Amino acid sequence: MARVELEAVTRRFAGVTAVEDISFEVPDGEFWVLVGPSGCGKSTILRTIAGLEAATGGNIYIGDHRVNQVLARNRDVAMVFQNYALYPHMSVADNLAFGLRMRRVDPQTTQERVAEVAKALGIAELLQRKPSQLSGGQQQRVALGRAIARQPQVFLLDEPLSNLDAQLRDDTRAELKLLHQQIGITTLYVTHDQVEAMTLADQIVVLDQGRIQQIGSPQIIYSQPYNRMVATFVGSPPINILPAIYDQQGFHVGPYVIPCPRSLQPWLEKHPGCDLELGIRPEHLQIKQGQDPHLQAVVSTVEPLGSENLIRGAVAEQPQTALHLRVAPQFFPRPGDCLDLFLDLEQLMVFNPTSGARIVPA
Ligand code: ATP
Repeated sequence: MARVELEAVTRRFAGVTAVEDISFEVPDGEFWVLVGPSGCGKSTILRTIAGLEAATGGNIYIGDHRVNQVLARNRDVAMVFQNYALYPHMSVADNLAFGLRMRRVDPQTTQERVAEVAKALGIAELLQRKPSQLSGGQQQRVALGRAIARQPQVFLLDEPLSNLDAQLRDDTRAELKLLHQQIGITTLYVTHDQVEAMTLADQIVVLDQGRIQQIGSPQIIYSQPYNRMVATFVGSPPINILPAIYDQQGFHVGPYVIPCPRSLQPWLEKHPGCDLELGIRPEHLQIKQGQDPHLQAVVSTVEPLGSENLIRGAVAEQPQTALHLRVAPQFFPRPGDCLDLFLDLEQLMVFNPTSGARIVPA
């Protein structure tokens, strides 16, 4: 096992800067997830660490070695791709053993390790089959198994679950987490799925347009985002973003006035009349009867999920300002109903509408 460090790594293709000035250090044994929208540079970072792409600038370290000039096959990393890339003419056993044979590990050890990995991944009874005789989930396990059998210093996983159906994806995600707890190999995992990022990661690296937006634990990324991009990328249903103007009375959202939390007052008092965006997560909006609601919402649809209902709508008299609410399953308003909303003001986030940066409480 080994730490992985990137120091100001940049990768340019002709006319495209795929990633720019990327720096982070994954400590030995941790599970880090790179997440962000399509084209943000996640795979490029992983491929650069693997040695499948050369960095245009910066340094890459695995353990204490700078590996920029080290060939991919000598970096002691194992990469698993979305498309599995199993050898179709080889049996499962031979696929699992492939990396070990390439490294001239003795046959006895190879056989033992294949058996061990197959047992751990629940594919021991499939060892004699060919990949074409396996389901997608089983093929995925073989691809993971092939990487694990090699006992690399680092795992690089690029959207390894995205070809699986929803149920299998959930199950394999949980197995992957368990597996990491057992073997503890330093892992970098790429996904555009924020649920995978939140559930698997020790630390999440959020990327956008080739740059790091924030690095933090899932809890920090969710509750203390640096900017609107991070805030809107994590969370389902998404955070509500409300355009507002601030003055001494509070935040004006259309005809409504939302009181300003005390912690934000020092900054806001220096910027009276400024345009802002408020961010409030659906779970911090409460529907209840009461005097002077902070906001009112007009319902457009209700989506029952069994354990809760998701409501989509808009701020009353502000149809362009969408709202997402989560409510108890018994509560089933009709389209067109008007609901009184109260915000948990301590959970309110404020963003600069131009830069997207979050204005952090004093
Ligand atoms: P996705 O989630 O869609 O796989 P990603 O976040 O992994 O996307 P990358 O595949 O790393 O993104 O690509 C980042 C940017 O670099 C994109 O704009 C992409 O078009 C560009 N890019 C990647 N590889 C090449 C290449 N070989 N030549 C030119 N441009 C490339």
